[in-house]
Amino acid sequence: MGIDTQVIDRVRAAWTRIEERWAAYDLHLPGSPSFICQAEACSAHCCKVYSVSLGERELERLSRFSGLEPVDLLETENGKPISLPLAQPYLLARDEGRCALLGDDLRCSQYHGRPEACRLYPHFVIFLNETTGRPVHGELREMSASMRMLLEGEQPEPYLPLLLRHIECPGFTGPPLPADAWHQLAEETFRLQYLPMQELKWR
Ligand code: SF4
Ligand code: SF4
Repeated sequence: MGIDTQVIDRVRAAWTRIEERWAAYDLHLPGSPSFICQAEACSAHCCKVYSVSLGERELERLSRFSGLEPVDLLETENGKPISLPLAQPYLLARDEGRCALLGDDLRCSQYHGRPEACRLYPHFVIFLNETTGRPVHGELREMSASMRMLLEGEQPEPYLPLLLRHIECPGFTGPPLPADAWHQLAEETFRLQYLPMQELKWR
């Protein structure tokens, strides 16, 4: 199913209105350069710069894949994992200004168990209220409905999903992204960002 050209026009117009406020991102559409990680070229920039938060189920998965105890994976205080009062309460351990799981070869030493944030990066989905020009949060039912309409080639309502890429990531050097790959990426990004650790069958 292709994204409707009228929807693309609507997405471009909406982005033009807000892009100044979203200077760290760019719009990612079918035909945009596809992503190929260039960890050697950027010296694993994302694994060094960002602190990664994760939830209970992500921690269980990482612990299972790595064979390591939570206390060896997370930032700790007085010998216990720090737990913040947030939906994703834990922080991956850092060592000398980088994620402690980053190998010397600039690869993730726990790639198959890595948290959702690491699987998501450098793509993001926002849902725009076109009346206010602001993104919406927490309205999962409406956001899911809007994403479903977008993926099925309809005009999304009530919100407009925008697939974005982080401009600090230098990995967008691949061939133009085909429409079917864009669809898959948009759905997967939505799932990782808003439905962490849930089944792919959300629609
Ligand atoms: S995802 Fe982007 S920023 Fe991170 S290592 Fe790969 S190319 Fe570098
Ligand atoms: S868990 Fe892996 S992918 Fe995520 S920040 Fe650490 S090294 Fe990078």
